[in-house]
Amino acid sequence: MSFSCLIVAAGQGLRAGPGAPKAWRDLAGRPILRWSVEALLAAGADEIVLVAAPDRLGDVEGALSGLTRWRATAGGATRSQSVRAGLAALDGEATRPVLVHDAARPFVSGAHVAALLAALEAGADAAAPALPVSDTLKRVTGARVETAPREGLWRAQTPQAFRLGRLRAAYAALGEDEATDDLALVERAGGRVTLTPGDPMLMKLTYPEDFAMAERLAGAARITRTGFGVDAHRWGPGDGVWLCGVRIAHDRALIGHSDADAGLHALTDAILGAIGEGDIGQHFPPSDPQWRGAASAAFLAHAAALVAAKGGRIVNVDVTLICERPKVGPHRAAMRARLAEILALPQGRVSVKATTTEGMGFTGREEGLMAQAVAAVEMAG
Ligand code: MG
Repeated sequence: MSFSCLIVAAGQGLRAGPGAPKAWRDLAGRPILRWSVEALLAAGADEIVLVAAPDRLGDVEGALSGLTRWRATAGGATRSQSVRAGLAALDGEATRPVLVHDAARPFVSGAHVAALLAALEAGADAAAPALPVSDTLKRVTGARVETAPREGLWRAQTPQAFRLGRLRAAYAALGEDEATDDLALVERAGGRVTLTPGDPMLMKLTYPEDFAMAERLAGAARITRTGFGVDAHRWGPGDGVWLCGVRIAHDRALIGHSDADAGLHALTDAILGAIGEGDIGQHFPPSDPQWRGAASAAFLAHAAALVAAKGGRIVNVDVTLICERPKVGPHRAAMRARLAEILALPQGRVSVKATTTEGMGFTGREEGLMAQAVAAVEMAG
């Protein structure tokens, strides 16, 4: 489902103690606001509007370098003013789902987003993850301490999901007043509100000790995704072949629309598969004349750029070439070096292997060459 996101990062975060506003602090080497943007991109967001304090707008580009599909806009003095500014900057029809998220909750995941979108799809006007209150609640009035009932109490988290038109109407009804929670506005207007499963990982970084906890959780918030790719090309007349970006003299050539580099095609598909971005034919249709004879390195570089745009990192890749001839061994080092260069990876994380099928099948009969590849990508869950 197509959806937009509004991330509020304009607060000063005074309770977090001295230092930069919390959204701008580092968490495991990346600014906290970048965590949410990467996670929402990985979850499939089409458009992200980041609302930042006016004096921080110039820093957003650096904090989100390499990521795509985001825009920044200046927030106001209060949370409600910032959400209003974000709503004004968002495009789309009234029915468009929009997720409003707080940058101080860096560990949002694809599962959280999927549950929220499903709630909207099922007819909710608004949805938010929430956890039942499990601690005993105390009410303190001066020196007097009493136990407050916790039955029926839930803690609402973000992101919170709405249809764009409904949220705009709720803010219009609010006028110049303030709301600390967007869900409350829809409740007040009599809208149907659904709570989705909350998650301790959606913790809001508020106090100095929260940051130490977040550092410990940071590793658990990233997952490794795997993709697999296969390609085959037919042998035909010629005097050489491109394999894994290396030209090898041979008494035949592989036939294809581009340079027919089956190794690069299989690896490109493996990387696209790891990030759920379709296959090479969708990105570079064989029917499009501009790819005739194209150097397939551009296809692989494109897939790597898509990974980076989602805030992902390629962990390692492994390609297997299946053919009787030419012998791959003498060219293996050059192939690894070329793949490492295209992907900007250390060679130790790039593998090229080869096998024959001992005369069996289409590769054994030398009708064609096949390549298989796997890629691992580390990114937000
Ligand atoms: Mg191919």
